[in-house]
Amino acid sequence: MWFAKSREEVLQELNVNPATGLSAEEAKARLEKHGANKLKGKPKKSLISLFFAQLQDMLIYVLLAAAVITVLIGEYVDAIIILLVVLLNAVIGVFQESKAEKAIEALQKMTAPKTLVRRDGEVREISSEEIVPGDIVIVDAGRYIPADLRLLVTANLQIEESALTGESVPTEKNADDVHEDSHTPIGDQSNMAFMSTLATYGRGEGIVVATAMETEIGKIAQVLDEDIEEMTPLQKRLEELGKTLGFIAIGICALIFIIAFFQKRDLFEIFLTAISLAVAAIPEGLPAIVAIVLALGVTRMSKSNAIVKKLPAVETLGSVNIICSDKTGTLTQNKMTVIKFYTMNNLKSVPTEGTGFTPEPDERELIKSFVLCSDATYENGEGTGDPTEVALVALGEKYNLSRKKLHATYQRVGEKPFDSDRKLMSTLNQVEKGYRVHTKGAIDNILKISKYALVNGAVVPLTEELKANYLRIAEEMSDNALRILGVAYKDVDNLIGPDEMEQDLTVIGLVGMIDPPRLEVKDSIATAKRAGITPVMITGDHKNTAVAIAKELGIASSMEQSITGAEIDELAEEELTKRINNYRVFARVSPEHKVKIVKAYQAQGNIVSMTGDGVNDAPSLKNADIGVAMGITGTDVAKGASDMILTDDNFTTIVHAIEEGRNIYNNIKKSVVFLLSCNLGEVVAVFASVLFFWPVPLLPTQILWINLITDTLPAIALGVDPGDKDVMKKKPRNPKESFFAGGTAWRAVLGGMLIGVVTLAAFYYGLQEFGYQLGSKDIPEDVLTHGRTMAFVVLAVSQLFYSLSMRHSTKSIAQIGLFSNKYLVGAIIIGFILQLAVTSLPFLANAFSLQMLSARDWGLAVMFALLPLVINEIVKSTGRSQEKGSQN
Ligand code: ADP
Ligand code: MG
Repeated sequence: MWFAKSREEVLQELNVNPATGLSAEEAKARLEKHGANKLKGKPKKSLISLFFAQLQDMLIYVLLAAAVITVLIGEYVDAIIILLVVLLNAVIGVFQESKAEKAIEALQKMTAPKTLVRRDGEVREISSEEIVPGDIVIVDAGRYIPADLRLLVTANLQIEESALTGESVPTEKNADDVHEDSHTPIGDQSNMAFMSTLATYGRGEGIVVATAMETEIGKIAQVLDEDIEEMTPLQKRLEELGKTLGFIAIGICALIFIIAFFQKRDLFEIFLTAISLAVAAIPEGLPAIVAIVLALGVTRMSKSNAIVKKLPAVETLGSVNIICSDKTGTLTQNKMTVIKFYTMNNLKSVPTEGTGFTPEPDERELIKSFVLCSDATYENGEGTGDPTEVALVALGEKYNLSRKKLHATYQRVGEKPFDSDRKLMSTLNQVEKGYRVHTKGAIDNILKISKYALVNGAVVPLTEELKANYLRIAEEMSDNALRILGVAYKDVDNLIGPDEMEQDLTVIGLVGMIDPPRLEVKDSIATAKRAGITPVMITGDHKNTAVAIAKELGIASSMEQSITGAEIDELAEEELTKRINNYRVFARVSPEHKVKIVKAYQAQGNIVSMTGDGVNDAPSLKNADIGVAMGITGTDVAKGASDMILTDDNFTTIVHAIEEGRNIYNNIKKSVVFLLSCNLGEVVAVFASVLFFWPVPLLPTQILWINLITDTLPAIALGVDPGDKDVMKKKPRNPKESFFAGGTAWRAVLGGMLIGVVTLAAFYYGLQEFGYQLGSKDIPEDVLTHGRTMAFVVLAVSQLFYSLSMRHSTKSIAQIGLFSNKYLVGAIIIGFILQLAVTSLPFLANAFSLQMLSARDWGLAVMFALLPLVINEIVKSTGRSQEKGSQN
């Protein structure tokens, strides 16, 4: 019962000094004893179960039935081939799926929460899994509680415990409480914090009393894995398409069967042909291909600092046309430096070099208050904590007002933490007689809660004139892109609570700090605009500061393109929606405004990406089409609510991710069109020959071979095609647009027709070499075999070649480079070798009823096989010249 014990008892029992924490060795020993701090998740799917899952497919049942029938009829070789194909298909499926799963798992690892602990006297961030009992954990707003803690220190700490209690209103915590009653319910244990709950406000420190399955949540929950395996909209649509095409295929096969019946063909043979054709025509591989292309794509994205948490986000990325971005840290470097400060009638520039300057009396008060009201540290040129505060503490160092000394002299006894709604932060510090409140924050808000001003050492009433004076200086500074922070104080006799701090203050003055834009952002903004995407700045900062930086970066061109949170509040929802497309800068906004902004953009039909880092940003991240959380400065809450995390907090990464998203979508399209063309080619060849009373050019096993073996590799290779360098010169894809829009369906049909026709032509040519026609009666078996071998080789090789043409819908092979996708080149070479092997190795050739071809026949086959590719390239080039013509 940790909640019934005093701090000292708990510390003694767990044997740790809270000022230094555990030593590294001790932590290691305890980790060995207690094991990693993680809840047991769902057991992983084994390879065997994945394998059997592959077999549960309508198509496979059909094939297995066909195998049984072939056995009954005594065609053992065919039966074995069918079974082998089923087996191979399942193996390929397992391979794809486990590869996709591994990629997703690796991403999940990257987003696993981290924890601040004190070890060896230092605070450091470690993986939450390494937490052990006795660790001293630092808790602040926005972080998940990594284990069960007995709290040692609390400063307005509030924790949302719905994961455990179902109660979504945060509970206030107090480390000083001790609950004697051993039946105190979890929700009332105010001196405890529990694993998987969430700090929403304030900060604190606690000692770990239980980890992993020993925790309260561990005791009740066995399975907590978040399911991120949801299907993307595209996958769902393709699955539907697959079903439709499946029915059509079955219809065609039934038709073939009926026609053949009346033609008095060998019914058994035509039965197998129909089944094989069904297998060929049903695009059962589509969802698997899409899954692997998505998985490979998100892995690639994670290497360039964008971690996709939800797969559907990849597709949505390609449609984004508004990027709402935080200013500080995303568009700027978040490296703040104070360069100016102002006390009444006294504007000073801070020298860039040197230390040991002596401030005037008013200036001394200004800097002192700023430093005392900051949590950041700055030592030997290194700062930790909020960059805004680092700049203030660094300013103190320059003026002989070091944080260490000040904090030791004027102990902090109370505080009201910063939040982005108030845009203020206050602390209560001990002074010689009584206490002093120090409040810093947005200058407009500081002036609102102040009654007096410090002018030349005297406290005078804050007149409208004085207010206007401060605001004018603030305006001037912010026009030069400086971030402004004001500061005020008041003396009180007694300890007061947070609610009484921010009133009746005395303004001291303000500082202006620079935060240079990120160098690479300007280019990315130009790229985004070229790609039909509007970048928009969202900030809690002053309007003038924001617009100045927005102009510098090319986001906005005039003040009219900006609006403040207060102005948004004045507007009715419809009014905001009507005007929203005119704005580029939203200044002095609070998190709730971000939700309004997202909704207004969406109401105008935009696809919006929105960045966020704080606890209160979760709603806007969830509302946005793509919620983007900051990886470095972001809270666990923001990350949890997001679709994508930027590991470098950089705007440029968002633009890169959109580019990747577009490329991935295009690649999926290439694979799908390729597979459909191939399937259609097979259907055309067989269906036409049945219709015209010709012998069937392909045997069932041959169709299976091509469909399941030769096609797979090029389809995957198309899925990892290197990105098109012009992809960011196009407009975003309309999310409502059909997958087959823009001539995609036509290309699939054209490809299928071409492949089907050359296959038939090769078959005809093969027969003709021995003096027979398609319509001849009683063609000898070996002539048929020769013709079929020609058809078989041409079908496979034309598909391989055709894949090259699929790489771009308008650009020629020469324009994109014949060898620029080395996977595809490899896939084509392997495909060739497979075709050579199956026709040349006697046992394979026999099994598939094929013949060895002469060099001359191979040459001719290659010529035939090149035709679909060549014709498609010609079609593309006429399209290109038309496009050019229409542009002129
Ligand atoms: P952004 O991240 O868009 O710049 P913030 O929410 O961080 O916006 O800041 C908004 C305003 O809040 C700032 O302009 C500043 O006036 C004030 N502010 C920021 N950080 C602090 C802080 N640590 N303490 C007090 N006030 C702050
Ligand atoms: Mg900020």
